[in-house]
Amino acid sequence: MSIFEAALRQILDPAGLITDPVLLAAHNRDWRGRYQGGAQLLAMPQNTAQTAAVLRCCHAHRVPVVPQAGNTSLCGGSVPRAQGQELILSVARMQRCRALDTANGTLTCEAGMLLATLQQQATQAGLLFPLSIASEGSAQVGGIISTNAGGTAVLRYGNMRSLVLGLEVVLPDGQIWCGLRGLRKDNTGYDLKQWFIGAEGTLGVITAATVRLFPQPRSHATAWVALPAPAQALELLRLLQDTCGERLSSFELISQNALDLVLRHLPQTRSPLSAPTPWAALIQLDDVDPQPLEERLVQILEQALEHHWISDASVAQSLAQAQTLWFLREQISEAQRLEGVSIKHDISVPVSQIPTFIQATSAILEQHFPGIRLVCFGHVGDGNLHFNLSKPDRQENSAFIHQTAAVNRIVHDQVMALHGSISAEHGIGQLKTGELQRYKDPVELALMRQMKQMLDPLGLMNPGKIFA
Ligand SMILES: Cc1cc2nc3c(=O)[nH]c(=O)nc-3n(C[C@H](O)[C@H](O)[C@H](O)COP(=O)(O)OP(=O)(O)OC[C@H]3O[C@@H](n4cnc5c(N)ncnc54)[C@H](O)[C@@H]3O)c2cc1C
Repeated sequence: MSIFEAALRQILDPAGLITDPVLLAAHNRDWRGRYQGGAQLLAMPQNTAQTAAVLRCCHAHRVPVVPQAGNTSLCGGSVPRAQGQELILSVARMQRCRALDTANGTLTCEAGMLLATLQQQATQAGLLFPLSIASEGSAQVGGIISTNAGGTAVLRYGNMRSLVLGLEVVLPDGQIWCGLRGLRKDNTGYDLKQWFIGAEGTLGVITAATVRLFPQPRSHATAWVALPAPAQALELLRLLQDTCGERLSSFELISQNALDLVLRHLPQTRSPLSAPTPWAALIQLDDVDPQPLEERLVQILEQALEHHWISDASVAQSLAQAQTLWFLREQISEAQRLEGVSIKHDISVPVSQIPTFIQATSAILEQHFPGIRLVCFGHVGDGNLHFNLSKPDRQENSAFIHQTAAVNRIVHDQVMALHGSISAEHGIGQLKTGELQRYKDPVELALMRQMKQMLDPLGLMNPGKIFA
């Protein structure tokens, strides 16, 4: 046993320090199975004091730390590198709700609470925690904050950055910053919590957070509509925003290729419309007013039909039908995983540029890689698309995957030409360090490095992530 391991044993209970390679395996591998870490130690502290003691110990022994929550990162952010020098620090045992203040509309919980549990706790209090992502049964509060997660309700409620009011963070040297304020207004200098939101564990370990809760909607309407092209999606989006205002919670764009994968790989799924359509949108309206919303949505869709923006629609007649429509959308990532490897992009452009981006980028890609298959879907109301590429034939696809750099260059050059971002949701992790270096403004990158240097001068926090 190393001196470092012995020191950790002084801090943690037996269940809090894992050395068994079998138990470590799931923590060393990412969700997509793309990265294999080599860590031989996993610390699972039970509280903030233990987390601080572990970080002090790592600081003293100069051992790098990889914070981990639900390990659903899609960019290799949550797993260590292969060399085996790093300690994985999982917050999964820290799951308590510390405070619920319904009058203030806030909940304070620990970083290992599942996102699904946070949603349930809000619901039980008659309120809503609106962030929703397909991985919510595994993703945890520390992870969704550290990735600034988005999801399907950003259009109305914003991403994690706008849902977090306060944070408790253990800094790389083991100091605890308690910033668990539940304030909507606080102009006392720099807003430090924003440094840690989306920092992918490179600046410290988040141990608890105070998040905003909202009134619980009492009426809902959900529809799956057929669209000829992304341009019509924008027309429909505009109409819905003009007529429904903030009742429009979600507006998701789904290509037929994306739906086809779900229908192929997920048993008991079927298309919501009678005929295939190049594109579809999944629309969700919610209101605190209990008056039914379906009729209003149908009226708007009839208007869209007259304009030829849509060609067909299926409006859910029950909660179960709405859930079935959402299931199709939420299973796209899983269906892609089952289909096999693809070159994935998680980009954003101004909403107005979505049709241009899809049209121009697809055309260039088809020129360079004839027969390429685009699986495109995303939160089009936020200008965010998952733009994933593969070849339908498995053997051809194995060769195509080696073209990742060339494909990325085409996609990301188009994104930057339209003043977009190469990562709208999933972050940089290990996957996009080179791309960040290439595309980020040099002044901005230098400032980021200075912030990292100031908070983590020894470079111990999640090395190799964000910065190569
Ligand atoms: C099927 C599927 C669907 C998804 N859909 C979406 C989606 O719609 N929108 C979206 O934004 N993402 C999505 N994701 C990506 C992923 O779920 C999110 O990035 C999520 O926020 C990660 O949470 P996690 O708890 O799994 O964090 P992890 O994967 O464990 O960690 C993510 C990053 O945060 C750091 N970290 C974790 N905990 C802490 C902590 N306590 N303190 C400091 N740093 C920490 C890690 O080091 C890592 O860099 C999806 C993933 C899957 C598998």
